[in-house]
Amino acid sequence: MGRFRRIIFTLTVTLFLAAGVTIVTGLGSMSEKQNDTEQGQQNLRDSISRVYLLKPVIRKISSTTEGIKLTWTAVENADGYLVKRNEKTCKNITNPEEVSFLDKKAKKNGRKYKYVIYAYREVNGKKIKSEPSESCTQFYLKRTSINDASRGENGDVTVAWKKNEKASGYEIQYNEKKNFHSAQCVYARKSSAISSKIPGLKAGKTVYVRVRSYKKAGKKKYYSQWSTPVMLTGWNQKWKYAGNSKIHSGTAVLYYTDSSDRRKKTVCINAGHGTLGGEAKKTLCHPDGSPKVTGGTTAQGAVYSPSISGGTTMTDGTPEAAANLQVALLLKKKLLNMGYNVLMIRESPDVQLDNIARTVLANQYADCHVSIHFDSTAYDKGAFVINVPNIASYRKMEPVASHWQQHNELAEQILRGMQDEGVKIYGNGTNGIDLTQTSYSTVPSVDVEVGDTRTSLAKKSLETISDGIAAGVDRYFTVSSK
Ligand SMILES: [Zn+2]
Repeated sequence: MGRFRRIIFTLTVTLFLAAGVTIVTGLGSMSEKQNDTEQGQQNLRDSISRVYLLKPVIRKISSTTEGIKLTWTAVENADGYLVKRNEKTCKNITNPEEVSFLDKKAKKNGRKYKYVIYAYREVNGKKIKSEPSESCTQFYLKRTSINDASRGENGDVTVAWKKNEKASGYEIQYNEKKNFHSAQCVYARKSSAISSKIPGLKAGKTVYVRVRSYKKAGKKKYYSQWSTPVMLTGWNQKWKYAGNSKIHSGTAVLYYTDSSDRRKKTVCINAGHGTLGGEAKKTLCHPDGSPKVTGGTTAQGAVYSPSISGGTTMTDGTPEAAANLQVALLLKKKLLNMGYNVLMIRESPDVQLDNIARTVLANQYADCHVSIHFDSTAYDKGAFVINVPNIASYRKMEPVASHWQQHNELAEQILRGMQDEGVKIYGNGTNGIDLTQTSYSTVPSVDVEVGDTRTSLAKKSLETISDGIAAGVDRYFTVSSK
């Protein structure tokens, strides 16, 4: 028995071109006679040969951490798509709505990958393919990461990254916003480049920076994915207690973790001391102007103290500030690897941020504040944490009143972390002292005295200490999230 069937194909393909949007519409129709006999099958074969599919257009190809990602235009009447990588089919997509593919096997650093995509229609179990898309090439480059960033006195920012041996150069982007909308960029056009200067930035303003590498082939540049950004802090006089700081022209740097296991917490690492001229300026010990309740570097009863002191000297002549920095830099690496973001107060011998400024920045950007010190005694007595002294008036004073339990909990967990890692501990490991840091902290905050002036600065000793602090921070967030 014969049947009459009319088939209308409407093919609509929208092509996005750089110049604008062009819409191409194709309309075709055909009619045919068909029956269940041999003649019918012949007719079917005829109709198959007349099935017309537009070829897909690859809209975007990019490197991601997981591999190369492709997106293309949907093709009307297609039943699916075939993706070919370097001439071989690497993916059959059976859902016509799916117009992107993440090629997880395409992630060898520096390797060239070439793709074409076919749309197909399935008739009687057979794939009738469209013409292939234009081919699209991508060199896969592993994403780089920013090792350190700093800002000079004139506002110039210097950023240094992990080198990619396969890259031809690097693009550095910067912006006042983390979304990098309308970001500006500078290039480092040498394959050997590992750092770059961004001139002409305003000191005192927050700026985000990120880097990507590229491979140049012919006239084309093939880019890696962007690194996670870093943020260079600015200063805002409206921040709580900002008005109490006397030295705050320096910059702290927030590093975002590259780890796939993000803890969504930011740890402020404050390498104690290292602010030239800090002792000459005086700041209020307490936000409310009340006197210090215990002795320490500054005597009990004092209302003002040096905005930041110079620190002690290790028995081998190393300034305490330099020893603190060594521990801080090790700790930075470990916490970033563990999935924490890290706010580094200081990464060089000098940063113009006094104790109150450091604390204000930690309050603003971090979920906890850990300062690193070596105590001034000289008999390798071991490490201890400074917690909140048990003095009623102090524990009633804001912001101590609202936060002293958190400070003590953080101190306790870091002490346990150090014990677990085998750090030598002094006495019971705690000592209650009224510190400027504690007196202004609105996030969990602790001063860790990781040893004294006779403590070994050998790599192994410092590794153990930083392992202990990292474990303690992790304990704190694990316990406090329960
Ligand atoms: Zn110190």
